[in-house]
Amino acid sequence: MLLDHLLPGICLLCDRILTPGLATPPNAQLCAHCHAALPWNLHPCPTCAVPLEEGEPTCAECADAAPCFERAIAPLRFEEAAQAWVHRLKFKQGMVEGRALAALLTTYIQRGYERTDLPDVVVPVPLSRRRLMRRGHNQALTLALWVARGLRLPVRRTALKRLAHTPPQTTQSREERQHNLVGAFQSKPWPGSRVALVDDVMTTTATVAEATHTLLAAGAVAVHVWVAARTPAP
Ligand SMILES: [Zn+2]
Ligand SMILES: [Zn+2]
Repeated sequence: MLLDHLLPGICLLCDRILTPGLATPPNAQLCAHCHAALPWNLHPCPTCAVPLEEGEPTCAECADAAPCFERAIAPLRFEEAAQAWVHRLKFKQGMVEGRALAALLTTYIQRGYERTDLPDVVVPVPLSRRRLMRRGHNQALTLALWVARGLRLPVRRTALKRLAHTPPQTTQSREERQHNLVGAFQSKPWPGSRVALVDDVMTTTATVAEATHTLLAAGAVAVHVWVAARTPAP
């Protein structure tokens, strides 16, 4: 934004004035101190990105059965500032917070893909029509647009659709959640594409796994999951 070049930025968390050009990373609007103090996902499961203890090689769920997506990336644990920002983005259309989350996610992806090719296309996890009408925007799309711009990848915003209105997942058991999501998505064909699925937060793998099934059935060859924050296992 033009204003960013005219006015000094202020740290999103502590109100310190930021030195132009030294923001970490650019667009995240954070001073170095607050950036370092974020709830970083330091020891993610290499497959599903759930936070692990240091030295733990993989989570119990992935050791049990590999998920259908190829890998997941989640820079932050869904705690403290990450939780507050996701809430602001989701329910108050908090664009400053959304931009910070997208900037952190973009930088993390760039580091995570230094030795491998990025996927071909970015797809936001869609909301059902009913929820979109009620909320007025899809926070996953907001993140997907910023991340894709930072990585110079195309976004397909309407190619994956959410058909059914599924009840909020918090009150359901794992089996109930998975069962309720079967057939929840519909996709356009993706012959040979590697797809990056973007969402704000991943609590369980149920939603992205069902979206991945749909994308793979529609011809995608691989699905990678990119989320700003990942909820630690209970
Ligand atoms: Zn700060
Ligand atoms: Zn895992």
